[in-house]
Amino acid sequence: MKIINALKATAVASLLSTSLFAGALGTHWGYTGHSSPEHWAELNPLFFMCKDGSNQSPINIVKKDILATTGLEKIKFNYTTNASGVINNGHTIQVNVKDGSSITIDGIQFDLKQFHFHTPSENEVDGKHFPLEAHFVHAAKDGHLAVISVLFEDGKENVDLKRIWSKMPHKESSAGCGLPAAMIKDILPKNKAYYRFDGSLTTPPCSEGVRWFVMQDYSHVSAAQVKEFAKLIHGHDNRPVQPMNARKVLK
Ligand SMILES: [Zn+2]
Repeated sequence: MKIINALKATAVASLLSTSLFAGALGTHWGYTGHSSPEHWAELNPLFFMCKDGSNQSPINIVKKDILATTGLEKIKFNYTTNASGVINNGHTIQVNVKDGSSITIDGIQFDLKQFHFHTPSENEVDGKHFPLEAHFVHAAKDGHLAVISVLFEDGKENVDLKRIWSKMPHKESSAGCGLPAAMIKDILPKNKAYYRFDGSLTTPPCSEGVRWFVMQDYSHVSAAQVKEFAKLIHGHDNRPVQPMNARKVLK
């Protein structure tokens, strides 16, 4: 029981500050070679869920298997604060957000902590990767997590991403960020209809019990912008899709 509580605390800590997490566990993990996703569970006993979990993320969203409901609850967005900084944490580019932004779903307020990017996308739709995916990470007071995912299709340059990219630190560090609250909201598509499923962190320790909301509408990103991001993170930062097991995707 103790280890589960420790894990939960560590999972939240990792999302809030990856450097704190690295300090706590001191385990290097990555996306290539001996530290790649298929080895995560071997790197540290605390990463056991990466191998033993049954509700892991990311997933392949198969459209014909989606359970259509009579209408999922609308997510109430309250993104009112600005970005406080852009961090290159060695795994991704992460934009930290000042306290005060949140979403409400299932009657629970989840506070927006940060958002970050993966290339190619981690979640797939009908077996197809997207060039980029953004994860907006939220935590409730009790530590439960909710992630809103935005998938980016190949297209014209994304002006909102351009503002973030211009602040991306090339070395592990943080930098000031003038990204206003309105622009954080603009990164999400206008139509907030979503696919919903249960999942996990897509990075060690792969803790489960994470509410996932993938936006049904896509945003766009240029090939040059993806290339610039990929160069910074030395290639790619996506965990492969995981088995669905007993789960269903709802819409
Ligand atoms: Zn992520």
